[in-house]
Amino acid sequence: MYDAMVLGGGPAGAAAALTLARAGRDVLLVDGGGGAGRVGEALPPAARPLLRELGVLERVRRVGHLRCPGNVALWGAPVPVVHDFLLDPHGCGWHLDRARFDRDLQAAAEQAGARLARATRAVAVDKAGRGWRVRLRHAGEERLARSRWLIDASGRGSVFARRLGAVRRCDDRLLAFVACWRPAAPDRDARTWIEAAPDGWWYSARSPSGARLTAYHTDADLAARDALRSARGLLAHLAQSPHLHALLASCRGEIDGRPRGVDASSGRLDRATGDGWLAVGDAAASFDPLSSQGLLNALYTGLKGAEALHRALAGEGSGLLAYEDRLRRVYRTYLARRTSFYAAEGRWPGRTFWRRRAP
Ligand SMILES: Cc1cc2nc3c(=O)[nH]c(=O)nc-3n(C[C@H](O)[C@H](O)[C@H](O)COP(=O)(O)OP(=O)(O)OC[C@H]3O[C@@H](n4cnc5c(N)ncnc54)[C@H](O)[C@@H]3O)c2cc1C
Repeated sequence: MYDAMVLGGGPAGAAAALTLARAGRDVLLVDGGGGAGRVGEALPPAARPLLRELGVLERVRRVGHLRCPGNVALWGAPVPVVHDFLLDPHGCGWHLDRARFDRDLQAAAEQAGARLARATRAVAVDKAGRGWRVRLRHAGEERLARSRWLIDASGRGSVFARRLGAVRRCDDRLLAFVACWRPAAPDRDARTWIEAAPDGWWYSARSPSGARLTAYHTDADLAARDALRSARGLLAHLAQSPHLHALLASCRGEIDGRPRGVDASSGRLDRATGDGWLAVGDAAASFDPLSSQGLLNALYTGLKGAEALHRALAGEGSGLLAYEDRLRRVYRTYLARRTSFYAAEGRWPGRTFWRRRAP
């Protein structure tokens, strides 16, 4: 029987498995496989101390992630405001090759002693005595594994915590329409761009592969979904945001495939710990991509949740209460920051998207 089974092999799950394995715990990391389509690649400079604490900073530095020197925001006025990471005490950020980042974190967990079940989905969990029985599916075959504790690291779906009775509360219905732009002319701008629009906002960043990720964010009920899921419709919409429109026009090229609509809402579980389980990363709380806080939170809660669980396994339960409390405070602070950030854009006070976010 494992001490802990981590369900979900994204950054939160891998950070949790790595931390538990380092503490000498017997842990299984179950990775359903996110594929190449994972979103979330801007890693802010503030992530460096966490990467160092997890022992993976050098690995991230060495491999081919793109260094990001800062952000450009067209927010509140049609004038670009540059936030240069030169002034950041932690140094530059990165635009990650997300598949590589996730794989490297999993490899670090394995090296620390965690077992990794690749391309494996957890399909059922049941209480069994003082632990859990989990049904795992790999390549069409199923097997059972047992564990004393479960960690839900399944992402925004919070698949297992919800099955165990926790309720996910959402604070908005933000959707992102994500497209990969293949430039035909040289594109050397490695900064992250955001530009506000009448019914939402745009994001664009170059990825290490040379493609430019571009996403439009708006509320689910305001989105002309069919149009935004087509390259032509998304580009027509981009014309409302002249600076990003010009940036993409300057590197020419075209959208690769069809844009995808993905959930980008803010929300959290009513409780992130329960009898024999806890949730980490997006499964516990998810953030508006505007905050660039998702990966930071995934690494932080993976680390802190695992530390609390290590203590609980040693009979000291107060760490889990402190973890729950810390999560609550992080989310409350995030909501206050989100309000003040959206309040800084006052050009469209009558539009529903901005009215909903007014203080
Ligand atoms: C449009 C958009 C843009 C974003 N941009 C940024 C950004 O620029 N910077 C940033 O910091 N954050 C960003 N984020 C947020 C960031 O992507 C997430 O916060 C981060 O990926 C959370 O990591 P996680 O490990 O909790 O979950 P995930 O990365 O979602 O990983 C969950 C894993 O669990 C696996 N899984 C699910 N169910 C099962 C199962 N039954 N069995 C086994 N495995 C399972 C999935 O396959 C997946 O691999 C963005 C989010 C969105 C929607």
